[in-house]
Amino acid sequence: MISGPQFPLPANEAEVQFGEGTESGAALRSALEQREVVEIPTVIGGKRYFSNEVTEVRAPHDTQRLLARIHRPSEAQIKEAISSSKGVAREWASLTHASRATILHRAADIVATRLRAKINAATMLGQSKTLDQAEPDSACELIDFLRFNAYNAQRVYAEQPMSVATAVNRADWRPLEGFVYAVSPFNFTAIGANLTTAPAIMGNTVLWKPSEKSALANYIFFEALEEAGLPPGVINFVPGDAELTTRVALSSPDLAGIHFTGSSAVFQSLWKGVASKVDAFRTIPRLVGETGGKDFVLAHPSANASEVAIALVRGAFEYQGQKCSAASRAYIPRSLWPAVSQQLRERLAELKVGDVADSSTFMGAVISQASHQKLSRVIAAAKDDSAVKLVSGGKTWTEPGWFVEPTVFEVSDPQHALLKEELFGPVLSVFVYEDAQWDQTLELIDATSPYALTGSIFCTDRFALHQAEGVLVNAAGNLYLNDKPTGAMIGQQPFGGGRASGTNDKAGSYLNLLRWASPRVVKETYLPARDWKFGA
Ligand code: NAD
Repeated sequence: MISGPQFPLPANEAEVQFGEGTESGAALRSALEQREVVEIPTVIGGKRYFSNEVTEVRAPHDTQRLLARIHRPSEAQIKEAISSSKGVAREWASLTHASRATILHRAADIVATRLRAKINAATMLGQSKTLDQAEPDSACELIDFLRFNAYNAQRVYAEQPMSVATAVNRADWRPLEGFVYAVSPFNFTAIGANLTTAPAIMGNTVLWKPSEKSALANYIFFEALEEAGLPPGVINFVPGDAELTTRVALSSPDLAGIHFTGSSAVFQSLWKGVASKVDAFRTIPRLVGETGGKDFVLAHPSANASEVAIALVRGAFEYQGQKCSAASRAYIPRSLWPAVSQQLRERLAELKVGDVADSSTFMGAVISQASHQKLSRVIAAAKDDSAVKLVSGGKTWTEPGWFVEPTVFEVSDPQHALLKEELFGPVLSVFVYEDAQWDQTLELIDATSPYALTGSIFCTDRFALHQAEGVLVNAAGNLYLNDKPTGAMIGQQPFGGGRASGTNDKAGSYLNLLRWASPRVVKETYLPARDWKFGA
């Protein structure tokens, strides 16, 4: 049991309305119109470092608009960050849970109030999210991560071994011996908050390398942590070059864990990097990675065509398909396809693609020129492919930003790359199966892609639903029945997948926190034995 105050189970943070005439709306508009270019430093032990090596951050939907300049740390500074966290590690670990949890709660409240408009605006501009996508991420989910991590840490600490009449036993939930390297992706501002504070609430220190594409919003969150009283050096903000920062982190014998979210390829390279020198670390590093997906939507002939079409529109195209959970392959029975495809075409024609500050926009731009080039290439090749038919969309353009139309392909070859590989953009591939081939389609979905992150099944036949859940038992870590495969809520649907999608340590739950603790079990005997003979 932990002594001290108990933090109650939090409720999920409610979305705030930013409409015309509201105070929040005015604050958001002013933050969106702000033209000052933010200088993003490296922060080590509370000190800010600016450098000559600078990377520009521009709005993906308006590439003329310069938002920020990231000041990259040198190799020496990254090393200094590691030693600075070493200096504060013991004191941080010795604090009570209540002290650490209070800092997270304060940070949550700061984001929920004073910084809400600012961090939402940074997420909208820097990552090209509409407000409908930013508020649930950079405000609600981020706040939930902080409050739920504070709450769930108590559940870990409360887990204690049994004591008996002659001795008392206890688990000391120690942090790991060393620092945790947190590497966050661009697509959710909230994820950076979780990758850092989950290890920190368990008493660890953290070297945080944010994605350069979300560094602006991530830096605002870091400032909230500082304002909340996070001691300098507990989390160092190191927006360095990915390969350099990783090389330095993995060369330290004090690397005790990696908390990663991003692509499967990068996580696998981190894993190999650790494995290749595993005997060089003081402790075997814990590796936690939530990675890519090729998330499916399966419709049974008993499903309702409109419900399926709406789930596909929202599941595949919200935030330009750049959610790890986004629907990117769909399996639709021939009997439903005419209605589903017609509704997809009609709905998608209504969707506005453009400036995220305009509240009627549904989709902004994709994150970068590299992503735009890759998607343009894939779409162009698909248009020339005899196994592929364009159902909707297919246009891409580069002025004023990296835009890709919501695109749907019907693919006749069930082994086509469009049904296997993660594209991370607004491209949905549909395989139309014969109604009588339901059993084979379940097997096909399970075996087609290396990923197993999310999936959804639309079906009103209870026996078929039960059968599908069984066959697809390992095909998704988050399975949705009669719902789209996106939109997991902290506390409600702990998130993560298996196979190539990661270690399935369920972000935002106590299961994830267990990875950041190394329990020491202490037995204390009341009366030590005074004779060596058994039974004496
Ligand atoms: P990414 O893998 O390109 O980058 C993720 C992070 O790794 C960034 O901080 C990046 O700078 C860093 N990085 C890149 N190359 C590196 C290297 N060689 N060594 C060390 N670090 C490196 O991913 P992204 O484009 O930011 O995000 C999209 C990916 O993340 C998709 O694959 C998506 O499915 C996945 N994702 C998964 C989840 C999940 O919970 N499963 C959530 C969000 C995103």
